[in-house]
Formats: sequence, C-alpha cells, structure tokens
Amino acid sequence: MRYLDSVLNMAKPGNTTSCSFCGKTHAEVRKLIQGPGVYICDSCVLLCKSVLDKELAVEARRAAPSLRVSKPAEIKRVLDQFCVGQEQAKKVLSVAVHNHYKRIVHSPLAGERESGGRSRGAHEVDIEKTNILLIGPTGSGKTLLARTLAKALDVPFAIADATTLTEAGYVGEDVENIVLRLLQNADYDVKRAQRGIVYIDEIDKIARKTENVSITRDVSGEGVQQALLKILEGTICSVPPQGGRKHPQQEYIRVDTTDILFICGGAFVGLERIIQRRLGNRVMGFGHVDQAHKAAQYDRNEILKMAEPEDLITYGFIPEFIGRLPMMTALDELNEQQLVDILTETRNALTKQYAKLLALDGVELEFTPDALRALAVQAIKKGTGARALRSLLEKLMLDVMFEVPGNSDIVGVKITKPVVEGDSKPIIRTKANKAAA
Ligand code: ADP
Repeated sequence: MRYLDSVLNMAKPGNTTSCSFCGKTHAEVRKLIQGPGVYICDSCVLLCKSVLDKELAVEARRAAPSLRVSKPAEIKRVLDQFCVGQEQAKKVLSVAVHNHYKRIVHSPLAGERESGGRSRGAHEVDIEKTNILLIGPTGSGKTLLARTLAKALDVPFAIADATTLTEAGYVGEDVENIVLRLLQNADYDVKRAQRGIVYIDEIDKIARKTENVSITRDVSGEGVQQALLKILEGTICSVPPQGGRKHPQQEYIRVDTTDILFICGGAFVGLERIIQRRLGNRVMGFGHVDQAHKAAQYDRNEILKMAEPEDLITYGFIPEFIGRLPMMTALDELNEQQLVDILTETRNALTKQYAKLLALDGVELEFTPDALRALAVQAIKKGTGARALRSLLEKLMLDVMFEVPGNSDIVGVKITKPVVEGDSKPIIRTKANKAAA
C-alpha cells in the first residue's frame, strides 16, 4: 500500500491492525499511526486536534487579561473610521462607554457577584450604570454605532427589536431572549456575555400610544417597558438555552445583566413637536416671545438635541423606564455630502467594496463625483437615510456584476450621473478600445 510506506511509525499493513479509537482497519483509513500497543488513524487525529483547538481557544479567552478600558478619544477614533458625521453622538457614546467599562473594572464587586457577592461599606460610592438612548432617523447610524462600539471593545454584541417583545405571558418574544442572543454571540461564555452590549432597536414603538393611561392600557407598550426595566437595571436573568418560550422543566442559564450595556434606539417621530411645545411654553412663560419664534425655526435635528426626560414621558414612556436610560443623544439626519462620504470614505465604504470585487477580475471601477452626488440625492428622496444607498447601488451595479466575471475583455467600468439617473448604461472599457486609446 503506497501511502503507508511513506511515513515513519506508520503501522504495517496487516489484518489485525485497526485504530484503537474508532476501530477502523488499515484498509478503511488513509493513515494509521502506531504507538506502544495502540494505533490511531488520520481521522481521529484530526478530530482530537479540533477538540483541543476549541478547548484551548476558550481557555485562552478566559485567561485573557481583564478588560482594557479604552480612552474616550480612542473609542471615538474607531467610530470615526466607520461612521460619518454624528459628532455629538460619537462623543457622548465614547464617554459613556468608557465610563461604563471603567465602572466594571474598578467596581469593588467586580467578579464577586457571581460568587455570591458581599456587603458594601457604608461610605462606598456607587457608580451607576449608564444605559444610553439614541434618538435619530432611520438609517442615520444608530445600529452601526452600537455595533462598532462592541467591535472596538471586543465584547459580544446582540441586536433586539423592541416591537417583537412582549411582557411574559403574551404571544411574542420574552425579554430574556435578548440576553439569550447575547449569550449565543458570546459562544455561551457567561462571563463574556455579562460584559456585552445589547442594542434594542425601535424602542419608540413601545411607547404608550396615548398620554392618558386610564383610557387605554396598552399591552404592547407599557407592559414591555415594565418587562424591560429589570434587565436594563441589572438582574439575574434565567435564560432558556434553546430560546423560545420558558418551560417549567427547562434548564436555565443564569446571566447577570448588571454590567451589560444597553443602547436603545428609535426614530421618535413626533417627539420634536413635544419638545417644541415645551420650549415654547417655557420661554413664553418667561415672556421671551422672540425665543419661542426662534425655537420654531430650528430644524428637526436641532430640536431633538434638546430632548429632556420629561419629553419622553409625554411621548409615552413610564418615568422608571426613562430613568434606566440616563444618557441620551440625538443623531442628525444625514445630508448629501455625508451620504457621498458614506459611499466613498468609510473603512467599508460601499464603492470601495464594489471596486475590490471588480479588481479581483482585473477590472477598474470608477464613479464620477456627480454620479455619487446623484446617488445621494436619490437616497435622500427615499427617506431612509444611508440605508437606501445599498439598495440603489445594488440595482445600479447588477448588470455590471453579472457581466464582468464572464467577460475577460472588460478592463474598466465607469458610472456617471446619467447612468445613475437611468439615462445611460455603465460605460465599459474593453482591452480593444483601451489599446485604441
Ligand atoms: P439606523 O439608524 O436605522 O439604526 P443603521 O445604523 O442600521 O441605521 O444604518 C443602515 C446602513 O447605513 C448601514 O449599512 C450603515 O453602515 C449605513 N450608515 C448609516 N449611517 C451611517 C453613518 N453615519 N456613517 C456610515 N454609514 C452609515
């Protein structure tokens, strides 16, 4: 047998030799390695290696030095690489996240909660947890910022949608599933999950629909707020490992949410009117009518930056819920130039991704500046912020991406404004007309 002769210590072919682990005989395996009185086949060696690799990786991660608390400026630098604009929000997030992890690392109770905890001294100052509320239109970068933060800090991350949540007992998702998702993303490493970041999207949708509580008790709204209160604040959460609804016979994994950072985001349509009303009333109350006029002239971006907890309570949140989100910041609607920058400047900018894909086929991709601007204009018309850019570009590039891989003549593709506006096909440069030029 050709393959057995090539390696030292290979078992000699014979009827009796077989792998001591899986029992396969010489004839059934590619290689059989011999030890004193034992044999192991190539498949079992590979299997053992994969088991060891997995174990060692988990051990290495657990033994990793405790969380390094990045400075706010370092955090913001990472956010700048991926997210265009939103300066104020980036600053607020960098500081909040820095403080959050500083609080964990320097907490006198760090690491002791799991082992039962201990009583605090009477004079110890508690640094309270600071969950964050992001107010901003669709496609302005709320999810992107939360995700980038988790990446920058190398902590597990999970996204939840508030509209799918219900209070326990109703049809829908239990709030514990949020924590489950984080646990899954942390490969079921409870300690890592307990330092993770959770982004809860569409939080504005669980506001009570009316300010008058006694008329409508809104199950999907206030009930969910109540259900979220505890995990936002910090509680030991019993998570069913398989997910889904709780079942009395199920085994639970216990996760402490005290150090999990929750970032909630929503568009809060109509909040600007509530803020404006408050500002108007207050300034008028002091007799500064001019200022009221000024307030009315602010655009939505500016007004939302003046949001106060009381506005959110008027919007339909219970005060306790807003109390669990002490840090609040507003994101701007993205303007034309920012959308162009998103297309071209960020680390994973969409045009860079397409250029890279085509470069693999030896094709150069070019977007003219007015084409980029036309794309931004179209995206603004759609009203879904930067979210529209991807679908616009996908549609625009479909034919090119279909044709290029099968046509080795093509060396360049140019996208101009008429191409974006549908008045022309992408301009293709081939070897022949390149040579002619
Ligand atoms: P939302 O504010 O609705 O959570 P997302 O963060 O999900 O918006 O953004 C949707 C898409 O648009 C993502 O692909 C994201 O990369 C891109 N995007 C949105 N805002 C920005 C931004 N400020 N800078 C860079 N990309 C952005």
